Amino acid sequence: MTNPTSEDRSPAWHNLSVEHVGAHLETSLTGLDENEAQGRLAKQGPNRLPEAARRSAVVRFLLHFHNVLIYVLIGSAAITAFLGHWVDTGVILAVVIANAVIGFVQEGKAEQAMDAIRHMLAPRANVIRNGTRISIAGEQLVPGDVVILEAGDKVPADMRLFTAHGVSIQEAILTGESVPVEKNTHTAAEDAALGDRTCMAFSGTLVTSGQAKGVVVATGAHTEIGHISGLLSEVQTLTTPLVKQMGAFAQWLTVFILLIAVLLLVYGYFVGHHEFSELFMAVVGLSVAAIPEGLPAVLTITLAVGVQAMARRNAIVRRLPAIETLGSVSVICTDKTGTLTRNEMMVASVLTHRHRFSLEGDGYAPTGALRLDDIEVSPSEHQVLEELAHAAALCNDAAVHQKDGVWHVEGDPMEGALLAFAGKMDIDPRKTQAQWTRTDAIPFDAKHRFMATLHHDHDCHAFVFVKGAPERIVSMCQNQRGASNRTEPLDTAYWNQSAEKIAAQGQRVLAFAMRQVAAEHTVLEHGDVEGPLTLLGMVGMIDPPRSEAIAAVRECHGAGIRVKMITGDHAKTAAAIGKQIGLQNTDTVLTGADLDAMNDGALQQAALHCDIFARTSPEHKLRLVMALQAHGLTVAMTGDGVNDAPALKRADAGIAMGNKGSEAAKEAAELVLADDNFASIVAAVREGRTVYDNIRKVISWTLPTNAGEAMTIVAALLLGLTLPITPVQILWVNLITAITLGIALAFEPTEKGTMLRPPRARSEPLLSGALVWHIVLVAILFLCGVYGIYAYAIDRGYSIELARTLAVNTLVVMEIFHLFFIRNFYSTSLNWKAVRGTRVVWAVVVVITAAQFAITYLPPLQAVFATESVPFLDGLLVVAIGVALFAIIETEKQIRLHLRDINVRNSEILRAKD
Ligand code: ADP
Ligand code: MG
Repeated sequence: MTNPTSEDRSPAWHNLSVEHVGAHLETSLTGLDENEAQGRLAKQGPNRLPEAARRSAVVRFLLHFHNVLIYVLIGSAAITAFLGHWVDTGVILAVVIANAVIGFVQEGKAEQAMDAIRHMLAPRANVIRNGTRISIAGEQLVPGDVVILEAGDKVPADMRLFTAHGVSIQEAILTGESVPVEKNTHTAAEDAALGDRTCMAFSGTLVTSGQAKGVVVATGAHTEIGHISGLLSEVQTLTTPLVKQMGAFAQWLTVFILLIAVLLLVYGYFVGHHEFSELFMAVVGLSVAAIPEGLPAVLTITLAVGVQAMARRNAIVRRLPAIETLGSVSVICTDKTGTLTRNEMMVASVLTHRHRFSLEGDGYAPTGALRLDDIEVSPSEHQVLEELAHAAALCNDAAVHQKDGVWHVEGDPMEGALLAFAGKMDIDPRKTQAQWTRTDAIPFDAKHRFMATLHHDHDCHAFVFVKGAPERIVSMCQNQRGASNRTEPLDTAYWNQSAEKIAAQGQRVLAFAMRQVAAEHTVLEHGDVEGPLTLLGMVGMIDPPRSEAIAAVRECHGAGIRVKMITGDHAKTAAAIGKQIGLQNTDTVLTGADLDAMNDGALQQAALHCDIFARTSPEHKLRLVMALQAHGLTVAMTGDGVNDAPALKRADAGIAMGNKGSEAAKEAAELVLADDNFASIVAAVREGRTVYDNIRKVISWTLPTNAGEAMTIVAALLLGLTLPITPVQILWVNLITAITLGIALAFEPTEKGTMLRPPRARSEPLLSGALVWHIVLVAILFLCGVYGIYAYAIDRGYSIELARTLAVNTLVVMEIFHLFFIRNFYSTSLNWKAVRGTRVVWAVVVVITAAQFAITYLPPLQAVFATESVPFLDGLLVVAIGVALFAIIETEKQIRLHLRDINVRNSEILRAKD
């Protein structure tokens, strides 16, 4: 399936032996050195598919004119020009252009937000450079690099595999075949189809199990996926179901308003006998006033602001609708290791056939005192410790290295801790690993909970080392290592009890075992590790809880969100950590085996009441998600491995770990945590609630504003009154001031009590009865304000121009006060913090006020907008009307809030009686 016309005439890699591939690419199986890699990168270019061409800025700008209302306005400009009303034409066109510019700038901001996120999600690759394993950005890969693949990885480039342990790769994006293909290292026929080249791993495919190493043979556009152009250039649009619905709503509202406008035109002309040109402008003004043209754009900005706020809090949104879901999450199911705990492990206890030692130290440094009953001892006094340290160093995929005096882990922190442990036992892991060559391995899998490796030393001995969950390893052993290296029968009860004791202190317990095999043995199979193993000992590792996670759990409980821990760890360890973290119900712990014994009904009950699930495997996560969803709960679920993908997909909000998570989990998730931290989930929920509130605020501010403006014109037309605001003025108010003010709401910070409210029901409608009532109330008050000041001015004998100027300014002032009111939905707006507002709010208020002064007092603008300078005292009156409006709606809100409190209390009393 290779593209025969492709320029690069690369050899058929799958048909070459590993040695030939290496020779061809001038590399060895121990990887490139950094200088060589940089040189190749400069020559080859980054390992990246060419990006899909973006729409040009001009096209994007022009698209802002592609809108029914704008067409109507352009049509109106033509008609006014035809009628010779040049000022009107000019204003309409200026407003249309200003509107497009505002939209264009906003859209640019929103796109920047999405680009920044895409960058944060760039995949990484584990390579061997300078002889050590390091993790680099996938883009940095070059042909000749040696890459390590593990279950859950996305293959970062096309590679020829040279080691493969139980590897299967899902190649659906290339072959359409969704069943994973087993991979090996044998060469394939030259004309083998893509799916049959089993010694190759192709860029973009997903490793579903096993472990492999391979040499990169092609990167970027030269890969198989690169030949199928355009496949990966999927672009996300900045929208959610809610915002889409609002967009559709706004569109239908536009159609409805335009129909009304036409009817009014006909009515006014034939029944009201108005002059056509004047009437036409009034109807255009009405359309502009009533249509919430800025709404979709402001909502998009609200989302973009939310996405950015979440990213700042280390929560990267992969699918935008998740923003809405996160706001309504009612239960969070979380991993323990690394999410609630720091994942900075250190071996603190060492258990042998007779003794329990304690071990000191700091981080991953290979130094620390060994104590037995509080007395410092030397590791050499106890022979079995040496063997235990060998097992820890050999049955291990991690690497530790010192940088600026601090030891860092590359790979699993738990395995890093084991290397440090080996060091403390006076064993150099690197030397040991060089002495005992690893020939095969069975990688760790949450399902069988152990890992095994096969080693050959230089004296033709072969050994299998196994490490894993204690009860699992104990069940695989027959013997134990006793004093002076003798083998004795296994004391199962001793080991199990001792392991539980260590676990009950919150330590993660790991057991080690070994067996000698025949030297010809070079392939490790599951059968080799069952049965006659010899137990060497166990270690207990501390992994302190994250302090911020403790605070976050408390915050969740305050916000009516339940937190459940789902871990593969021991029940005792899980319970101890659960207590430290502050979970609610730490008395019952259900294990995976308990869950297996339950039917779905029992599981639904258990899932609700139990907060800690231990020794679970990924399938249990899926069952738990479904059980919780059966109660109508909105479930957030974390995961990191390949097998977590189904549970993440099924959860309402799937959350993958950015650091230790596999690409498979990230792809299934809605949200990725850059720091793997539970506190970031809670921050995302808080932002989710904020975004939803802000969407509601934008809508609750925009719709009444439009309704009030529209009713002003409709009332005049129907009652045959003079318009209190001219159409040109309405255009100004609506397209410039209203959109600018509305944007401020997109930047509203989280309200104070946001995380003290129970989660919102997902079925809760956005256009609720309360909102409709608010629209009606505010529209009527706007009407009263505008007509009130207009009547007052006429009564004082002012000119009609001055009366209108007063009316326009009153309208804008009322919008500003309404804005301050909307900012605090759930609490009073009458305190210093609420008045102080945010920078954005004050910025738009200052801008709009300046603009109002300009059209009121500057002679050239007076000519355009037909305004007159407002006397000082009347200016005060205008502000006073704004204050009055604010007083009325704030009082009304207080009444509503108190009624709600009374209702809540009543229902609590009723519930207490039950
Ligand atoms: P968690 O939910 O804490 O991440 P895991 O599913 O990763 O739990 O691990 C479950 C258990 O499997 C651990 O308690 C440990 O005993 C064992 N285990 C974890 N990782 C490894 C590994 N790399 N090798 C051997 N055993 C492991
Ligand atoms: Mg784990």
